[in-house]
Amino acid sequence: MSDVRFGPGGVPDWLEAMVRYCSRCGSRLTFGAVEDEERDRLACPSCGLVSYVNPRLVVTTLPITDRGEVMLIRRGIEPGLGLWAQPGGFLEIDETVRDAAIRETLEETGLKVEPGAIVGLYSRLQAAVVMVAFEARIVGGAPTVTRESLETRPFAPESIPWPEIAFETSVRALSDWIARVRPDLPLPEPATIRRDFGA
Ligand SMILES: [Zn+2]
Repeated sequence: MSDVRFGPGGVPDWLEAMVRYCSRCGSRLTFGAVEDEERDRLACPSCGLVSYVNPRLVVTTLPITDRGEVMLIRRGIEPGLGLWAQPGGFLEIDETVRDAAIRETLEETGLKVEPGAIVGLYSRLQAAVVMVAFEARIVGGAPTVTRESLETRPFAPESIPWPEIAFETSVRALSDWIARVRPDLPLPEPATIRRDFGA
């Protein structure tokens, strides 16, 4: 959290190039005080449009087997190539959070799930995302390999490969899930929660 760098546009460095110009008139945006706004904003000096930059929602699931194991995927793409995470992706503009959870899980794992309780909601400031994790019952399908996932396999709560989990938010979601289903198990040391990839 402390290593998050915000550039002169008030956004993480990697995001700067994507919010440089006014989406209405194409002028270069400036960052600073704007009337009636309580914090500095990116705004257009030509047409006055204020460009609000807010985090996007990443929808994920912890697909749970009948034996109480969680299905994780070994990521086939960056960030986190080769490391483990739960399935998930960006919420599309025309779908509900629940629909996105079902779609992303099917696309990345081949598993059909029924999302249940929300395990938690997590901020990744450097990536400008908020991640929601649903506990999800597996109701069909079969594990598949895709471009995005090299492998999908179940892990018992006591066998989570903590040092190989791709994201800090995934570590936190898995920890919160285990704290609920297996409160007797020790949770990972903060030292293992060290990976965070910008975008
Ligand atoms: Zn403009």
